[in-house]
Amino acid sequence: MHVFAAAFIPFYGVVIVQRRSSGEYLFLFALVVAAITAAVLLSLQVMKVFDTSGSNGTLEGDYILIDPGHGGRDGGASAADGTLEKDINLVISLSLYDLLRFVGYRAEITRDSDRMTCDAGLKTLREQKVSDMKNRLILFDKSRLAISVHQNHFEQPQYWGTQIWYSTNHPESKMLGASVRQAVLEMLQPDNKRELKKSTGDIYLLSRTTTAAIIVECGFLSNPAELSKLKDETYQRKLAFAIACGVIAYNP
Ligand SMILES: [Zn+2]
Repeated sequence: MHVFAAAFIPFYGVVIVQRRSSGEYLFLFALVVAAITAAVLLSLQVMKVFDTSGSNGTLEGDYILIDPGHGGRDGGASAADGTLEKDINLVISLSLYDLLRFVGYRAEITRDSDRMTCDAGLKTLREQKVSDMKNRLILFDKSRLAISVHQNHFEQPQYWGTQIWYSTNHPESKMLGASVRQAVLEMLQPDNKRELKKSTGDIYLLSRTTTAAIIVECGFLSNPAELSKLKDETYQRKLAFAIACGVIAYNP
């Protein structure tokens, strides 16, 4: 068994334990045990993971990029109660970023606070959004793989569930997306029937980046039941954890 597969077992163990008991402390304890186990196993392999002999020979691109969508003046979608997408994206992304670094990956994040990533001195929101996207794209293209975190919104309230999009510009995007989808569905949403989807041309980052990249739309702000979960700190951590498990299982 590959060491990464071995490392993944305790993560699924967490889910099993957590399903049998609703105790939050048990979940946290199991998370720490799983993370330590994975860290030890990953540390044995970390040089292999980032062996660049087959690529450009530098370490520059060997990070996983976490990209919390929107930020600052760009709130993204908004829920009926005023909850802004940008805020949920950031909390989940920071948690995912911490988890991946904790288990030994090099990771970067496009923003770690409520701000846009645009150049300074731009006045209109449109100019800022264009610059923001360009700057994110630069970080995407330098990364080993990139995960953009967003929330969905639709006119009808009944739609729910994580939806993942992948870039068709890099063959690994689809495999990464499938792995993250599988982990999220198995751990949190067994009734979610949403298929992995190819990026369309109007998804700026996925249609332009040259790196393996996905967008994880964690849930629908327009669905009241899912909105209350997405606002819940424990559920936010579980989502981040499930996405991290999907990345680890993919074995970048
Ligand atoms: Zn968004």
